Amino acid sequence: MAAAKRGKAKAAGDRKTKSAGSHDPKKAPAALDEYRKKRDFSKTAEPAGGGAARTGTLQFVVQKHAARNVHFDLRLELDGVMKSWAVPKGPSLDPSVKRLAMQVEDHPIEYNTFEGTIPAGEYGGGTVMLWDRGTYIADPAMANGASDEVAVQHGYDKGDLKVVLNGQRLRGSWVLVRTRFGPGGSSSKPSWLLIKHRDAFAKPGADIVADVATSVESGRTMEQIAAAKGDDARVHSANNEPSLVTPRKPPVSRAKPRRATPRVNRAPPDAHAAAPTARKRTPKSSGKR
Ligand code: MN
Repeated sequence: MAAAKRGKAKAAGDRKTKSAGSHDPKKAPAALDEYRKKRDFSKTAEPAGGGAARTGTLQFVVQKHAARNVHFDLRLELDGVMKSWAVPKGPSLDPSVKRLAMQVEDHPIEYNTFEGTIPAGEYGGGTVMLWDRGTYIADPAMANGASDEVAVQHGYDKGDLKVVLNGQRLRGSWVLVRTRFGPGGSSSKPSWLLIKHRDAFAKPGADIVADVATSVESGRTMEQIAAAKGDDARVHSANNEPSLVTPRKPPVSRAKPRRATPRVNRAPPDAHAAAPTARKRTPKSSGKR
């Protein structure tokens, strides 16, 4: 199906194209289709994406996300998008610890600057913190002389992806190992394990996600990020955070939501999903256990 779609897009592109190179978000990589389908950009301040240029250096980001469950989202730039994994317990610097990393839909590169609160009831509803970010390369041991992008793509395809992170909080060599594909259905994603390799940045026994509880960008706690948006979940939190937003192009649509009825949320019930849409408004921190 994806192949058919690609073929179609290609055929369309082969006919004299007036849209080549256009920044029309609708023409953005098909890889972002699922990301977009899950979100209503008139309600969430998350970027629609598709307009970010590659810098030639691979970026990574880790976001702490208090959705239905608090988890960490690891995103690695590859092929113009951010490959993404929801890591329920977050990364560990202890090489003896293997952390489940559930692959989720590719995200736009613009997501790397997103910190704020996704409105309750929307996909992934909850507060998002920029917990770490930086650049990464293919682990030289894996790359074997190939370029980073080629080596990373190869490792990703093999399900044995070794990278060296250069972030503020995560550094050194890590591996993502694919353990199984999703249980049937083209939309289900594989599970991976995220493991720290033994190197100078490994810290046996350390609990970095407990030790580091503030934004790498703003220094704020989850509570402070959540409070910044006030009580109206539809207020674009980035309005209070000019330094966090790099508007290269006008935001897609910040028009006030007009729909009287909530749209159907087709998101699967995973850790990344929004808290169940409440019939009445749910207090922000009610999910705390
Ligand atoms: Mn998430």
